[in-house]
Amino acid sequence: MPEMASEALGQNHSILAERLSAVQKQVAQSCAVAGRDPAEITLLPVTKFHGPELVEGLVDLGMRRFAESRHPEARDKARALEGRGALEWHFVGQIQTKKARQIAQYVDAVHSIDREGLVDALATIDRELPLPVFVQVNMTPDEARGGVQPADLDALVEHVLSTPTLALQGLMCVAPLGAEPRASFAKLRELSQSIRSAAPAATSLSMGMSNDFREAIENGATHLRIGAAITGKRPDRT
Ligand SMILES: *Cc1c(COP(=O)(O)O)cnc(C)c1O
Repeated sequence: MPEMASEALGQNHSILAERLSAVQKQVAQSCAVAGRDPAEITLLPVTKFHGPELVEGLVDLGMRRFAESRHPEARDKARALEGRGALEWHFVGQIQTKKARQIAQYVDAVHSIDREGLVDALATIDRELPLPVFVQVNMTPDEARGGVQPADLDALVEHVLSTPTLALQGLMCVAPLGAEPRASFAKLRELSQSIRSAAPAATSLSMGMSNDFREAIENGATHLRIGAAITGKRPDRT
C-alpha cells in the first residue's frame, strides 16, 4: 500500500508541475503581448483549502511565496512549512479586527486592508520592520465583498501612511464575478495613479486570479494571486 500512495503522490506532483509551468508560460506570454518585463510580476499561488503537502510540492518546484485567505488555516500551514527555509506568506482574505494581530505574527504581507479599524488594530504590532500592506478596493457597491469604496480610498490611504508599523505597497482588488474584468483592473490602475502624490512608494497592483490574470497583466498587475489554475480544484470547504 505505501507504494501505491507514493505513486499517487508522484502523479499529483507531476500534475502540479505541469499546471504551474503552464501558468508561468501564460504569464510570460501575456507579458510579451503587453510589452512588460516578467521580472516585474510576482506570482503568488493561492493555497487555501489545500494541505501543507501541496505547498511542499510547490516549494519543491521552486516557489517561495504563497497567498492564503483564511486564519487559522494559514497559520497552521506557515508553521508546518517552517523547516523549508524562508517562505513568504501573503494574507489576501478578509480579516476580523480581533484576529489582525495574530495574523500579523506569521504573515509577510497583507493585501486586504479595507478599513480604519483594521489599520488601528495593526498599529500596535511588534515588528522589526513595517508590515507591507495593500489597500483593497471594492469594485462593487456590495459592502459585504470586502474592500474600501473608491470614494473612501484617499482617507484610508492617509490612515495607513500615518501608521508607522505599516508600509503601503499599493492597491488590491478582486474583479467582480461575471463582469468584464478589464474595467475593474483599469479602474484600480487609475486609483493607484490618483494616490501616487500622497503615496509615491505605493506602486504595486495586486490583481488577477486564475480566470483573469491575462487582463490584469495588460493593466499593470504586479502581484498575481492564482489559485485553482495552479492547485487544481479546491477540496470541499466543509
Ligand atoms: C481564492 C482567492 C484567489 C485565487 O482564486 P482562483 O480563482 O482560484 O485563482 C485570489 N484572491 C483571493 C482574495 C482569493 O480569496
